Amino acid sequence: MVTLGTASAAPGEIDTGRLEVGEARDGSAVGLPVAVVNGVDDGRTLYIQAASDGDELNGVGVIRRVLPRLDPAELSGTILVCGIVNYHAFQVAEHRNPIDDTKMNRAYPGDHSGTSSERIAAATFDAAISADLVLDLHQGSTSRMIDEVRVRCGSRHRLHSDCLELAKVFGCGHILDQKGPDGQLARAAPDEGVPTIDPELGGCVGWDESSIQRGVDGVFNVLTYYDFLDGRHDPRPQTRATGFEQYGSPVGGLVDLQVDLGDRVSRGETLFEVTDVFGRTKAEITADSNGIFWRARRLPQVATGEYVCSVGTNIDTY
Ligand SMILES: [Zn+2]
Repeated sequence: MVTLGTASAAPGEIDTGRLEVGEARDGSAVGLPVAVVNGVDDGRTLYIQAASDGDELNGVGVIRRVLPRLDPAELSGTILVCGIVNYHAFQVAEHRNPIDDTKMNRAYPGDHSGTSSERIAAATFDAAISADLVLDLHQGSTSRMIDEVRVRCGSRHRLHSDCLELAKVFGCGHILDQKGPDGQLARAAPDEGVPTIDPELGGCVGWDESSIQRGVDGVFNVLTYYDFLDGRHDPRPQTRATGFEQYGSPVGGLVDLQVDLGDRVSRGETLFEVTDVFGRTKAEITADSNGIFWRARRLPQVATGEYVCSVGTNIDTY
């Protein structure tokens, strides 16, 4: 029997339930929606979670499409799923948990007697480190972003090559291989010996069909490569960035991007212009380095210093 919260499945069974993480302000129980898919044959355990950031729905879209396709009678090993991590943020379609104004992916490994976010992080961290592999499905929030997979443990970590292999197997096409900030699941779980990646499935408001499909393909690539399912997956070379440069606007006004997501950019090439409301150019911002145009704000209006775009740098093929 494998159990996650109230979901409990014997070999060959699938079950769904709730992982309790305290109570809401009205005293009702807060339970994250969880599933256990227990394969009829022995194998590894994979943990997948989505909506760690409450406005990042593409991962929920992936899980919603993957689960109906899983047959425990054809599965070796176990899949544990938490479909919505940031319960309170999801309810109000926001990025951060409104109970404590915290970003969930800065709260790992969490604290069972801590803040709202720390308690949710602790409950899901227990599930994550009970597994052999972890997929923490994210996206570039509501900005526009390429589909990519982040390896966050850092190149000196003992699990770096395992995490990088998992990222290559997932196979979005691009990898950002750069040590992340404290509190990320993709940093905390490798410290406990569990290879973990952070697939970043585009960026949108609501759903993005092509990014969801990339995520579904990625999950099945992982299930096939790591022998949960019969078949064969040969990972393809991925374009990797190990640097990441962010650009803000030096002036207030309206942004015109000069390059498209995924484009190669050269040092000195214009990334964007800012005009005033009458169309007069106020600033023209060029790339500091060669790289790939990775992410951009969605709305054109900016204040001085406000985020505009990001370029992945130090590009190679892995
Ligand atoms: Zn996120």
